[in-house]
Amino acid sequence: MGAQRGASEASGAGESQPPALEVRDLVRHFAGRGGTVRAVDGVSLTVGRGEVVGLVGESGSGKSTVGQCVVRLDDPTAGTVRIGGVDVTRLSRRALRPLRKDFHLVYQDPSASLDPRMTVGRIVAEPLVLHRMASGDALRDRVAGLLRQVGLRPELTDRRPHELSGGQRQRVSIARALAVDPLLLVADEPTSALDVSVQASVLNLLADLQRDRGFGCLFITHDLAAVEFLADRIAVMYLGEIVEQAPAAELFAAPKHPYTQALLSAVPVPDPPAQRARERIVLHGDLPSAVFPKGGPVEHAVDYCRFHTRCPLAVDRCRTEAPRHRTLPGGDHQVACHLVGDDGAAPDAAHPERQDRHTTHTTHTT
Ligand code: ADP
Ligand code: MG
Repeated sequence: MGAQRGASEASGAGESQPPALEVRDLVRHFAGRGGTVRAVDGVSLTVGRGEVVGLVGESGSGKSTVGQCVVRLDDPTAGTVRIGGVDVTRLSRRALRPLRKDFHLVYQDPSASLDPRMTVGRIVAEPLVLHRMASGDALRDRVAGLLRQVGLRPELTDRRPHELSGGQRQRVSIARALAVDPLLLVADEPTSALDVSVQASVLNLLADLQRDRGFGCLFITHDLAAVEFLADRIAVMYLGEIVEQAPAAELFAAPKHPYTQALLSAVPVPDPPAQRARERIVLHGDLPSAVFPKGGPVEHAVDYCRFHTRCPLAVDRCRTEAPRHRTLPGGDHQVACHLVGDDGAAPDAAHPERQDRHTTHTTHTT
C-alpha cells in the first residue's frame, strides 16, 4: 500500500501522458424541497494512471454523485471531468459512446447492473462486441480468459445472474468492466452489499487485477479498512466537499482535519495495546442535511466551514468563513481547515480559541 502499483505498465510513454482522471471544481446541485441540495460542491481530484484513489466519507456526503458525474451517468452542474486528458463533461451521449471503453463503473449492487436475461458469457462479451474489439473465437477466448481472471469457473458462462451468489455476480460485473481494458474504473462501494465473508476476497481480486493491469481506480467507500488496503491516495469528503487529501500512508499516520481524525479514530487497530492507547473521537449527530435553504448562497460560496456544527475544535472563524483548500509543505497533502497550521501542524484539542465541544473523547477499554 502507498506505492503506485502498476503505474509503470500503465503509463507506457511515462510522465507526459495525462492522468486517468482529472476532476476540477465539480459541482452537482439538485433542486430539493425547501432549497438546493449541494450534493457535490466544488470537488477537485486526480487519479493517475495505475493509481488507486479512495474517496471516503459518511453516507450522504456526495461520493456516489461524484462517481456518477465522472462516468457521465449524471450531468454536472459545473466543473470539468477529463478522462485520459479528454474533456468529457459536456460531450453528447453520441460523442461519448466511443470513449466509453475508457471508463467503467462497478456498482454496490451487482444485480442492479447486470441484465437478468443475459448469460454471464454475453454480459462479459457485450462491451467487447460494442467496441468491436473481438469477435468469433477470439471473443470466446477473451471472455473465458476474463472469467478465469476474476476467479469464475468456465461452467458459469451459460448461467444467468440470478443463478449466481452475490460475490459471483460482483465478479461478473468486474470482468465486464475490465473487458475492454479501461483507463479508469470507478468502483462505488463494490463490496458493501456482499456478505462479510466474501468482501475480502472481492477486495483481494480488485487489488490483484489493479496490480496486474494497471488501470486507474476511483474507489468509493465508507469502509476505511478497505481503503487503507487498496488505495494509494485518499480523499475525504464531507457534505459535498473534499476536506482532506493525502497519500494513504500519510493520511493514516498523520490526519490533519478534525473530521479525518474522527473517522480514523473509529478504525480498529490490529494491535490491542495500540488500540487501547488510542483515543476514540465520537462525533455526535448525523451528517447535516445537504439542503441549503432558499435564498441561501446557492451561486455563492458557503461562508463557513461545513463541519463546524460537529467539530470538537470549532472556533468563531469556522462559523463565519469557509476554509481555503491549502497544500501543506511537501506538496502532496491538502486540507481545508482554519485550525491546521501553514507548517501542517494538526489542530490541537487545547487550541486556545476553542469554545464548544460537540464531541466526547472516550478511550477504548477492550
Ligand atoms: P453518498 O454516496 O456519499 O452516500 P450521494 O452522492 O448518494 O452520497 O448523495 C449526496 C447528497 O445528494 C445526499 O444528500 C442525497 O440525498 C442527495 N442526492 C443524491 N442524488 C439526488 C437526486 N437525484 N436528487 C436530489 N438529491 C440527491
Ligand atoms: Mg453512495
